[in-house]
Amino acid sequence: MDVVIVGAGLAGLTAADALHAAGRTVTVVEARPSVGGRMKTLVDGAQALDLGATWHWADQPAVRALAAELGIETFVQYRAGQAVIEGRDDGTRRVDVPEPVPAELRVVGGVQQLVHRLAARLPDGAVVLEHDVTDLSAGSAGVTVSMVDAADRERQVSCECVVVAIPPRLAWAGITFSPALPPALADVMQATPTWMANAVKCIAVYESPFWRDAGLSGLAFSQAGPLFEVHDGCSADGSTAALWGFLSPSHDVRDLGVDRRRELVFEQLGRLFGPAAADPVQYLERDWSDDPYTNDAVVWLGDLSALGHPAFSEPRFDGRLVWAGAETSAAGAGHMEGAVRSGQRAAAQVLARLTGGTP
Ligand SMILES: Cc1cc2nc3c(=O)[nH]c(=O)nc-3n(C[C@H](O)[C@H](O)[C@H](O)COP(=O)(O)OP(=O)(O)OC[C@H]3O[C@@H](n4cnc5c(N)ncnc54)[C@H](O)[C@@H]3O)c2cc1C
Repeated sequence: MDVVIVGAGLAGLTAADALHAAGRTVTVVEARPSVGGRMKTLVDGAQALDLGATWHWADQPAVRALAAELGIETFVQYRAGQAVIEGRDDGTRRVDVPEPVPAELRVVGGVQQLVHRLAARLPDGAVVLEHDVTDLSAGSAGVTVSMVDAADRERQVSCECVVVAIPPRLAWAGITFSPALPPALADVMQATPTWMANAVKCIAVYESPFWRDAGLSGLAFSQAGPLFEVHDGCSADGSTAALWGFLSPSHDVRDLGVDRRRELVFEQLGRLFGPAAADPVQYLERDWSDDPYTNDAVVWLGDLSALGHPAFSEPRFDGRLVWAGAETSAAGAGHMEGAVRSGQRAAAQVLARLTGGTP
C-alpha cells in the first residue's frame, strides 16, 4: 500500500481522508477498539455526551471548514446568565461574565461526529482497529510497520510512507524507530506534553436545566473543588440537560476512589447551583490520565509552549515518515484545530514524496 497512518484520531483520519481523496491506498492502524482518540462521545438514544474534547472556536478555520464539509451542525455554547465563583473557604457568589470572544462552538450530536464521518469516507477495511504499532523500520524500498493485536499476535505491513499521528510522547515511549531518530528529536518528543492527557472529566445529567431558570449559565470556577471549573453541557435542542466539569489535578481528590469522589462532586454541584444539582439522574466520569493510548505517565507536563515544535514539520527517513497530531501543529496546538491542520500538512508532505516533489 502507499501509506500507513498510525492512529485513528482526528489528525490521522484527516490525513487518511486527504490521501484517499488523492487516489492513494491507505491503512489507518488504531490501537483502541474504536476511532476518535481524545474525541469520545457517549451516545445513548438521543443523548450524546462528550467525554473528551467539547469545543472548537469561531476563529479556528480548519476545523470549522471540515465540519461544514462533512455536513455537521454546530451551535454556540450556552453562556446566558451569571457564573458562580467559589472561594477556598468563603462560599459562593454570582458574577456577571462577558460573552467569550471568540465564541465557543459545540457539535450537534457530539464531536465524535467529525471522526466518524471521516472514517466513513474511507474504503471498507482501511481502518484496522485494536492493533498497537510498536516498530517502524525504514529501508530504501519503504517502511515496515510492526504491530501487535489484542491477543498479542504480531503482524507486519510494508508501505511507501508512514504518518505517525499519535501524541509525540507516546511515539517516543512506545515505538522503536529504525534507524534511530536523532537524539535531539527524541528529546523534543519526550518534552512535548499531550494536551489534556491529565484531565478527568465529570458529567452530571438532570431531568431539566433548572440552573438556567435561576439565571445561571452553568459556568462556575472553584478553588474549593473537587471540580475547578464547570460548564453547561445541554444538547442544542435541550432534550439532554447536563453540567460537566474538570476534576482538580490534586491527587487528594483523584486517589479517593470513584464512590467518595462522586459524593464530593454532587455536594459541590449542590453548593454551586442549588440542592437539585446534588441529585443528578446520571453521573459519568472519564479519566484520560489512566488511558495508555493518550497518556504515558501520570505527570503534569506544564510547558504548553513546547507544543507545535518546528521539528515536527520535518519529514524523516528520507521523506518516508511524517508527523501529525494536535501536538505537532504550531497553529491550534493541542486543539482539534491543530489536529486537522497537522493531518492536512502530513498528507501534503506524503503526496509530495510519492510524486517525487519536495516534501
Ligand atoms: C478531556 C479532554 C478535553 C478536551 N477538550 C478540547 C476542546 O474543548 N477543544 C479542543 O479543540 N480540543 C480539546 N481536547 C483535545 C482534543 O481532543 C485533541 O486536540 C484531538 O482530539 C487530538 O487528536 P489527535 O488525532 O491529534 O490525537 P488523539 O485523539 O490522541 O489520537 C491518537 C490516536 O492514536 C491511537 N494510538 C496511540 N498509540 C498508538 C499506537 N502505538 N498504535 C496505534 N494507535 C495508537 C490512539 O488510540 C488515538 O486513537 C480535549 C482533550 C481531552 C482529553
